[in-house]
Amino acid sequence: MVVGDVSTGTELAIIGAGPGGYVAAIRAGQLGLDVTLIEKDAWGGTCLNYGCIPSKALITATDVGYEADTAEEMGIHADVKVDVDQMTTWKDGVVDQLTSGVEKLCKANGVNLVEGVAEFESENKLRVAHGGDGQGSETIEFENAIIATGSRPIEVPGFEYDGEHVLSSRDVLDLDRVPESMVVVGGGYIGMELSTVLAKMGCDVTVVEMLDDILAGYEEDVTSVVRQNAEDLGIDFRFGEAASDWEKRDGDIVVTTENEDGEEFQYATEKAFVAVGRQPVLDTLNLDAIGLEPNEDGHLETDKQAQTDVAGVYAIGDVATGPMLAHKASKEGQVAAEAIAGEPAALDYQAVPAAVFTDPEIGTVGMTEQEAEDAGFSPAVGNFPMRASGRSLTTGNDDGFVRIVADEDSGFILGAQIVGPEASELVAELGLAIEMGATLEDVAATIHTHPTLSEAVMEAAEHALGHAIHTLNR
Ligand SMILES: Cc1cc2nc3c(=O)[nH]c(=O)nc-3n(C[C@H](O)[C@H](O)[C@H](O)COP(=O)(O)OP(=O)(O)OC[C@H]3O[C@@H](n4cnc5c(N)ncnc54)[C@H](O)[C@@H]3O)c2cc1C
Repeated sequence: MVVGDVSTGTELAIIGAGPGGYVAAIRAGQLGLDVTLIEKDAWGGTCLNYGCIPSKALITATDVGYEADTAEEMGIHADVKVDVDQMTTWKDGVVDQLTSGVEKLCKANGVNLVEGVAEFESENKLRVAHGGDGQGSETIEFENAIIATGSRPIEVPGFEYDGEHVLSSRDVLDLDRVPESMVVVGGGYIGMELSTVLAKMGCDVTVVEMLDDILAGYEEDVTSVVRQNAEDLGIDFRFGEAASDWEKRDGDIVVTTENEDGEEFQYATEKAFVAVGRQPVLDTLNLDAIGLEPNEDGHLETDKQAQTDVAGVYAIGDVATGPMLAHKASKEGQVAAEAIAGEPAALDYQAVPAAVFTDPEIGTVGMTEQEAEDAGFSPAVGNFPMRASGRSLTTGNDDGFVRIVADEDSGFILGAQIVGPEASELVAELGLAIEMGATLEDVAATIHTHPTLSEAVMEAAEHALGHAIHTLNR
């Protein structure tokens, strides 16, 4: 059916229905705005469909199998068989439940959902091309617009994704069987999370990383715990090498890498997974039509209300400056919606947590000790090793630590770095502490349930104050 050209108007047009766009739409709907949310692919964006959720589903599923398979010491003798088809069906079911929830919540909040590819036509008009033959397009006139078009994987020259030999994270999340071997190009968080999944499923994994460590940006004592465990899982690391080429050989492929001195190395493998980072999706929006330009990193600069240099045009999530994280996108979405509705909302980035779902997990928030020093604080630091936590020992996973960084003079908590079981959850307490302006005394004086992993947070605060009970004070 040919729909033809139609023209509609809206108070707020949002391009992209990821955790930035759909959260902004729901919040704006709650505040009584007339909202149109446009999505070209799938409700929930990268996060729900090809990122956070499917990756965490596979991490959990492979952990269940791996834990059972390695629990001999606990007296569990399992014969674990992985049914990849069933695992995929379960993972897809989780994704479907969440994406249909997004659609229902948007509709329940009065959001008008439009399927199609949007681009700017002029400073107050979008053109939305509908999918399929003869589906036509529509023009949407807006008072305000939010750009929430997210990001896509960066390609390495010569390693264009073909879904067969050279895979993106999306391909890896949809494998129908476990490959014999995989060369993973890039030791960032996506590369490391999925390398762990693959290794636990019996794949022979080699991680090629240009730098001399995994997880750039995290401190060495944090990454070393993860790196050591990954090595114990059989993951082979090749640091200081960059992937330069690949070729087919006998049904498999050979990946060539090069080090700084130009020396070449070759790795025969079934497939290569390229995970060297992601870049904002802005090139398809015809930003010239509204006179907006990305900065030299390819992101859009915004103010405290997520507004760009163009009045009435906002940018949130992976397209905006700052860390590419789903919760950062959602918070920016809420603030942008509230600002557009005239509420006194503003962004505050002092406590953006980050988690890496490797084995063990990493959870960080706020400043490191070095960052605190650089910011002019005299930091008080408290550490508590997971091996001294009763609960950690009872889980059979006792690698890692909790570290709290505070201002020595005032006791205010400035940051935390956690490596260990459930670090992604534990870090939330310290995010709240920073947000509330809590001190070391506040955290130390809070009665924590025993036996729990969260006691390690209390102990780290006590350690910074010089009176930890279950570890030696300096
Ligand atoms: C494998 C993987 C694992 C991840 N794990 C985590 C994690 O554990 N925690 C975390 O915080 N983050 C994680 N992330 C990052 C997270 O997915 C992103 O930060 C988040 O999705 C960004 O949200 P967004 O709303 O900005 O964009 P997206 O989620 O990318 O959504 C953008 C949407 O815009 C649509 N779109 C683009 N252009 C147009 C157009 N012209 N017209 C209409 N629609 C358009 C796209 O189809 C897409 O649906 C992960 C990412 C990946 C790839």
